[in-house]
Amino acid sequence: MNANKKTDQNCPLCSDKRAHVFHQEESFGYSLTYYQCATCGLVFQHAADSPAADPSFYQETYRRVYQESEEPTPKDLWVQKRRALNSITFLKDKGLNSVGNALDIGASAGVLLDAFKAAYGCQVTGVEPGRVYRSFAQSKGLHMVSSLEELVNAKPKRFDLVSLMHVLEHLVDPLGTLKTLSQDLMTKDGRLLIGVPNFYAHDSYELAHLICFTPHSLRELVQQAGFEVLTVKAHGYHRSKLLKLYLTLLAKPLPEKTSVPEIKPDHQVSRKRQLGFLYRKFVQKAFPHSAWLPLETDKK
Ligand SMILES: [Zn+2]
Repeated sequence: MNANKKTDQNCPLCSDKRAHVFHQEESFGYSLTYYQCATCGLVFQHAADSPAADPSFYQETYRRVYQESEEPTPKDLWVQKRRALNSITFLKDKGLNSVGNALDIGASAGVLLDAFKAAYGCQVTGVEPGRVYRSFAQSKGLHMVSSLEELVNAKPKRFDLVSLMHVLEHLVDPLGTLKTLSQDLMTKDGRLLIGVPNFYAHDSYELAHLICFTPHSLRELVQQAGFEVLTVKAHGYHRSKLLKLYLTLLAKPLPEKTSVPEIKPDHQVSRKRQLGFLYRKFVQKAFPHSAWLPLETDKK
């Protein structure tokens, strides 16, 4: 049981092919298998097995599967607004007071781009593969493109703020994407903002979640892509006062010719997740109203 086997897929962080089955379950009628890398400890789905790895999945299917609609719903927009305001507060807390040119990847309806504009008066660009969401953002006058490749080919002015909020866990090649950002798209002193679910508190197992990030593995991945991690914060905003459901990371590109450190493996991931979920069960029972905060639309 749980023996490490050689697979035909590489680990998205360290490229090793040895992994064992970490977890299996059904989601939206699909069977999901998560593996754990024998070398670095990353928990991930094999992209080749997942329908979410197909680019057309995000162009049309994703919203329909998740919210039974391709259009931005009021609930979705409300959630995005809360996340956007939280991101601005986080950036200002970390001393980011001036931005000239911002990029949001997985920009969705453009809510975070609107918040960047309002907070910094900066130029903004969004990458969004979903056609309906992209049109929605364009209709507000935002500059949107459909893929990172399209943006790189256009050779845009470099960005001093790039965000990927709840995007990295969906990507087939998160390391390659982050390298493209540090090498081709960001200014030397730019800031990278990332938000992902925290594997030690969030359910995490979802059709479209190809990677389950811990604070450690998120930091390692960002470092391997050529960034210096400035901070990783675990928090529950806007869903919980007590459960640290999300990770928010801030990083900046490493100076040129600085060598990337070796990957430090993640230890005791399974044990830490078990402990995290014991704690979650306890606070849900003891403090139900602080454990889960209502969504705006829950009240109606
Ligand atoms: Zn690995």
